[in-house]
Amino acid sequence: MIGAIITACFAFAYIIWMKRRHQDDLALALRKQSQGSSNEKSHEARVQALLDAMVEGVIVLDGSLRILLVNSALKDMFQLRQDVAGKTLMEALRHHQLQDMAARALSEGRFFEGEMKLVSITGLERVYSINGARIGRHEGVVLVCHDVTAIKQLERSRTEFIGNVSHELRTPLSIIKGYAETLSTPPFVEADAVKYARIIERHSDRLTALVEDLITISGLESGQLQLHKIPTALKPLVESVFAELAAKAESRGVTLKCEMPFDLTREVDSSRLRQVFTNLVDNAIKYGSENGTVQVVADGDCICVTDDGPGIPAEARERVFERFFRVDKARSRDTGGTGLGLAIVKHILLAHGGGIRVEQNQPTGAKFVIQLPAD
Ligand code: ADP
Repeated sequence: MIGAIITACFAFAYIIWMKRRHQDDLALALRKQSQGSSNEKSHEARVQALLDAMVEGVIVLDGSLRILLVNSALKDMFQLRQDVAGKTLMEALRHHQLQDMAARALSEGRFFEGEMKLVSITGLERVYSINGARIGRHEGVVLVCHDVTAIKQLERSRTEFIGNVSHELRTPLSIIKGYAETLSTPPFVEADAVKYARIIERHSDRLTALVEDLITISGLESGQLQLHKIPTALKPLVESVFAELAAKAESRGVTLKCEMPFDLTREVDSSRLRQVFTNLVDNAIKYGSENGTVQVVADGDCICVTDDGPGIPAEARERVFERFFRVDKARSRDTGGTGLGLAIVKHILLAHGGGIRVEQNQPTGAKFVIQLPAD
């Protein structure tokens, strides 16, 4: 950003110098009129080309805050079609904030930073950081506008994430504290002690699961987790996940089926891919119908995990892969869900160069479609 300001300042100083030289040396200029003006034009064209190559929007204003030049990036930001040289900022851009910042830069004469919002042609709001500096005593002002929309979105999602984590931690913690206080404050009914201890145990398990999922997701998102990819047969991997979840499936009367060729292999990190199938099959057992069927099936280049429960409403299908998004909040919490399972699944598959989407299963239920690059 500082580099952009310096480039713009050089360009501005150069233009001012060219104009001054032009005035002071008028006689000489007249004599060499044709040669001089063509030199000047080619220099100005070079400055313009230099500024047009910048991704930041640049506006150079003279001492009365009239536009000397703007670059292509700035024209795109404000969707400017006509030539704005010589106009005031308000005439050309109709932006009060920018006008105020330019006036401030001119009067205060120091480098400053501000922010402005613009609505793009597609109707989306974009945020720009503005850096301004006065040139010379009062010769003019340079404003450089840098698109910081993506950074702002990241900041917002980080703040939301911290808010969600705090909320998720607070509930089990306050339950654990409440029951522990009851147990440590006699008199209480002896028979209730075991019940209270079980509640404390269940919520401690939930806290542990949440913390483990948080560690996994932060490792995946920061790119710190290394994948150890080896050719892996998928059917035995799915069957070992089934074996691990057999008791849970049985408690809901759910039948687990795997239909894929025995020689189907993919170059994957087997423990991470195991986590993908564990999360998807666990969800299918939890949210699918009682006494239903959960299937893992190879379908062309994809692998599908299906159930015959209520499925996921069309409007929530993109969002279920977001951290802490739940279709049915109460059901997810009752079943001990952390709200991070599908976000982890998506990250692992992306890290393998694959992906996942969810569709409506026929005639009913959810169908998670996994793509993994072939060996
Ligand atoms: P959770 O820990 O809440 O299960 P997930 O990230 O695994 O978190 O899933 C997010 C949400 O997606 C769940 O809360 C649930 O509402 C929905 N969901 C996931 N799998 C299924 C499924 N097979 N059928 C219906 N809804 C599902």
